[in-house]
Amino acid sequence: MSILAQQRLHELADVKDELAARDWFFGTSGNLSIKVDEYPTTFFVSASGKDKRKRTNEDFLLVDAKGYPVEETPLKPSAETLLHVKIYDRTNAGCSLHVHTIDNNVISELYGDEGAVTFKGQEIIKALGVWEENAEISIPIIPNHADIPTLAETFSQYINADQGAILIRNHGITVWGKNAFETKKALEAYEFLFSYHVKLLSLKNIYNLHLINQGGIANGNNSFTCK
Ligand SMILES: [Zn+2]
Repeated sequence: MSILAQQRLHELADVKDELAARDWFFGTSGNLSIKVDEYPTTFFVSASGKDKRKRTNEDFLLVDAKGYPVEETPLKPSAETLLHVKIYDRTNAGCSLHVHTIDNNVISELYGDEGAVTFKGQEIIKALGVWEENAEISIPIIPNHADIPTLAETFSQYINADQGAILIRNHGITVWGKNAFETKKALEAYEFLFSYHVKLLSLKNIYNLHLINQGGIANGNNSFTCK
């Protein structure tokens, strides 16, 4: 293995350990990839069905631009490798991270019918490289298809920049970016926004239920309707 490939593998394993420490790989879900070469493209991707809380020599395998193993191996690429294939095919991204968390699933369900969720005026948006006052960030939400080629086809229609994110309804988020560091930073920022929003909605609902029980305001400035 080349020195570059070893470096990339190490970087990706470190990201996996950090995300595992956050408990973002429920039930062996989630998959990660990092680009090694261009012309032709090769990238490391998670092997299927591994416990991502453990670090072993069989966590990742090298695949080509179509997601097929580059060398003979007993390891199978993650079933969702095709999503990573689409990202490297359409962008200059160097890393792609896909996690299923409770917060990203809740957000995708709340706003799935609208096809996107938008956040505004939060400091953490700067971590996504948007620095304007009252910046707005919008994340598309696509339906979840059990058939991966169908899912990948829908998914690929929303890949239009070298960094970005797509929510798959009641499934998870994929975030891609220039390198492992930038991509992990963006993923953390998105998950912060989701978690904040879920907590805020829950508290507002409790607050309003309390008001209604007290015979207070059911409609008006203090009211809140959960979508
Ligand atoms: Zn998934």
